[in-house]
Amino acid sequence: MTTLDTRHLQQLDAAHHLHPFNDNAALAKRGTRILTRGEGCYVWDADGNQLLDAFAGLWCVNIGYGRKELGVAAARQMETLAYYNSFFQCTTEPTIALAAKLAELAPGDLNHAFFTNSGSEANDTILRLVRHFWAVQDQPRKNIFIGRHDGYHGTTMAGASLGGMKGMHQQGGLPIPDIHHIDPPFWFIDGGDLSPDEYGLVAARRLEDKILELGPERVAAFIGEPIMGAIGVYIPPMTYWPEIERICRKYDVLLVADEVICGFGRTGEWFGSQYFGFQPDVMTIAKGITSGYIPLGAAMFNDRVAWVLKEQGGELAHGCTYSGHPVCAAVALENIRIMQDEKLVETCRHDTAPYLAERWAQLGEHKLVGEARIAGMMGALELVPDKRQRRFFRERGSVGGVCRDHALAQGLILRATWDAMLLSPPLIISREQIDMLFARTWKALDATAAGLAA
Ligand SMILES: *Cc1c(COP(=O)(O)O)cnc(C)c1O
Repeated sequence: MTTLDTRHLQQLDAAHHLHPFNDNAALAKRGTRILTRGEGCYVWDADGNQLLDAFAGLWCVNIGYGRKELGVAAARQMETLAYYNSFFQCTTEPTIALAAKLAELAPGDLNHAFFTNSGSEANDTILRLVRHFWAVQDQPRKNIFIGRHDGYHGTTMAGASLGGMKGMHQQGGLPIPDIHHIDPPFWFIDGGDLSPDEYGLVAARRLEDKILELGPERVAAFIGEPIMGAIGVYIPPMTYWPEIERICRKYDVLLVADEVICGFGRTGEWFGSQYFGFQPDVMTIAKGITSGYIPLGAAMFNDRVAWVLKEQGGELAHGCTYSGHPVCAAVALENIRIMQDEKLVETCRHDTAPYLAERWAQLGEHKLVGEARIAGMMGALELVPDKRQRRFFRERGSVGGVCRDHALAQGLILRATWDAMLLSPPLIISREQIDMLFARTWKALDATAAGLAA
């Protein structure tokens, strides 16, 4: 693409395209970055820059870019049967095969899938169906969901309400009723003098306090991301989730894992709940299920919940035109086949993730980094004003964006949330590419530190 074409596209974009999660006025002035091609862990932009994508698009391109097999699977299904619905006593072959495949992969007895187009819709689905689950068992007042402040569960009315992002709640009058939040587990800022493991228990017991405050007969479910992604990769201590599980069982509160990021290998296990050793009753998935090649999400229910929904729930008054879309299902099946045949999750767990963790810890020695946290293929560098203290910059968020731009100038895509640099590369990243990631990140940190000193 010529520079002229690029400028023209940027002008059209500014004139006609409202971007999600952007200050659109500022973006129009700056000009959108237009991506044109992807291969493996790299993407190219319209100016011809080759970038190492250490964020896998948006936490999703797990098998990397440019895998032709997924295009072939989509084309074949489009030619055979481009669409049919799953309403009206019908469905299609790939949809059934995917539901069965997910039941095989999902931990424990999460054997039942309800398909959506996105993670947000999957979370909307669980809000409705879990409330319905309790209502048809004569407990209509057991309808409250507890989430976490700063959690992220998508942007629909239910998704944004279950999430705990204040800025999102301010737009559109959220949260909707009967959704409550507890503080997230973030030892770095909140842990005080406790060890991470001690703190994990303290943070989990906030759930018990909240359940007792509201009354267990009112609380339908607790929802959480195994690792909180969007807010800055908050990795809870290993004591946190088993204690959350114990509390949920004690009060008969359903445990919902939002696995939209953590699912499909991100932690070096198939699902984040396996990494932390707990068993959800319900889970939501999206992103990595198709490696982002086509939109697809699902809510998965265990035998108990599915039995009630089927045997007592009557007609489920819920669904999308594209629930279980055969083309999306065919692409998901092909994506999962590649992950299994090429042993991507095992390679991460035993080889590349431990190596990445080593290199990430070395970045933690940089004077700008207060904490280098990582779990599997998901990490963050918390940039701080003073390495000896666990606290944020006074003007929070003033440094992360600067560091992100320095990384881009080095040919590296990292995401900045506040002053944390977030990492979530394609699972296929090689040791050589991890070395490149290390070198470019170090240079970006140096450039950022130099700017702060100036
Ligand atoms: C991205 C995300 C969602 C929302 O998924 P969409 O497909 O963007 O609607 C929900 N939960 C988590 C944890 C996510 O990261």
